[in-house]
Amino acid sequence: VFISFEGGEAAGKTTQMQMLRDHLVTERSVAEDLILTTREPGGTPLGRSIRGLLLHGEHVDPRAEALLYAADRAHHIETLVRPHLARGGLVLGDRYFDSSIAYQGAGRELEASEIESLSLWATNGLMPHRTILLDVPPEALGQRRADETHDRLEQAGGDFHATVRQEFLDLAAADPERFSVIDGTLPREEVHAQVLEAVAEVLSI
Ligand code: C5P
Ligand code: MG
Repeated sequence: VFISFEGGEAAGKTTQMQMLRDHLVTERSVAEDLILTTREPGGTPLGRSIRGLLLHGEHVDPRAEALLYAADRAHHIETLVRPHLARGGLVLGDRYFDSSIAYQGAGRELEASEIESLSLWATNGLMPHRTILLDVPPEALGQRRADETHDRLEQAGGDFHATVRQEFLDLAAADPERFSVIDGTLPREEVHAQVLEAVAEVLSI
C-alpha cells in the first residue's frame, strides 16, 4: 500500500508520517522493515543530488525544474518504491506527484495536465492508494517557518504559497476517493487521530 502526504512546507508531513509509523509498529505490531518512509525530492542517492540542484543551486528554468522533479520521481519509484510494494510493504511518501501539479504546475504556471502526464509517464502510472493533504493557510506556514533555514523556493514571495495551497485543495476536491484533507493547524495529536482514520480503510486497521 502506498500513502502519500502532501501540503505546504512545515505543514507537519514529516511529523505525521513518523507518528503513523510509530503507531503501526508499537500499537499494531507491524514489522518495522515493512514500512518504508521516504521523500521527494531526495529519496535516493541520485535524488539527493537532484534535490541539491533544485533547492540550493542556481535558478532553474521552470520546464527544466519540472523535468528534474520528474527524473527524481522516476528513479525513486522504480528503484525504491515499487520494489518495496512488490514485497508487500507499506510506503509512506513525503510528497508525490500532486506536489508537482501544485508547485511546478500552478506555482510555476506550467500546464497542470502536462505536469500530470509527465508524472504518470515518469512513474509508469503508479497512483497512491490514499493521499493525506495537510492543509495549512500560508499565514500559519509563515509563523511555523520563522525559525527555520529557508531554501530558495521557501523564500518565494507574493501569492506563490496561496496559489499552491489552492491547487492542492482543488486536486483533493476533484478526487475525494483518494484524498483526505486534514486541518494541519490542529494540535498534532488531533491531526494524528484524523490520519489514523484516513488510512484505516486502505490498511484494514
Ligand atoms: O517537502 P520539503 O519541504 O522538503 O520540500 C522542499 C522544497 O521543495 C519546498 O520548498 C517545496 O516548495 C519544494 N518542492 C517543489 N516541487 C515539488 C516538491 C517540492 O517546489 N514537486
Ligand atoms: Mg522544507
